[in-house]
Amino acid sequence: MTAGPFPLDPDGVWREGPGRTFPPGSPGLFLDRDGVIVEEVGWLHKVEDVRLTPGIAGLIRAANRAGAPVAVVTNQSGVGRGLYGWADFDAVQRAIAARLARLGATWDAVFASPFPPGDWPMRKPRPGMLLAASKAIGLDLAASWIVGDRATDIEAGLGAGLQGGLFVGEGYFDGEPERALAHARAGGGFSVRRIAGPGEAAPHLPFLDRA
Ligand SMILES: [Mg+2]
Repeated sequence: MTAGPFPLDPDGVWREGPGRTFPPGSPGLFLDRDGVIVEEVGWLHKVEDVRLTPGIAGLIRAANRAGAPVAVVTNQSGVGRGLYGWADFDAVQRAIAARLARLGATWDAVFASPFPPGDWPMRKPRPGMLLAASKAIGLDLAASWIVGDRATDIEAGLGAGLQGGLFVGEGYFDGEPERALAHARAGGGFSVRRIAGPGEAAPHLPFLDRA
């Protein structure tokens, strides 16, 4: 179901993709957007502020090459707060996708939550967006990973039953409290590892073809 010109569900969540099919039970790569795919600038909503993070295109390319679906899962409370609209989000998304495409990298699905801070099933740290993406794509969650720059990204990965989360620990939100929160999610078969940036992610992801 879509409402209006954008791929919005009746519950207000942006759901896009996948644009191609994958074998059922594929391990997936979940990516937070702000601070992971693009530099965190605070309420990113202008195309001129889009800057890819170092290494992100290579990471997505590696997932593409390995046949691992790439799902973007992003909280966009700026929409719910009225700071910007879905049209701004759409323009920024298109700019990011175009830059990635020029570098041979493509994401497969995008889920974006407009809700303001609060306990929303479809807002991280709750796992709703990951579960919905998994259902849409047909993922093996227990073999999938998330890369995020907030403890809430890692918590969403834990809640979705992923194999692990990579915490980008030198980003905008770096600091011992956030790092400690992220690492506190580890255990019971769920791995949490700290990386300096997306360029360091590949060796931690068992499903990537690193040949
Ligand atoms: Mg982020």
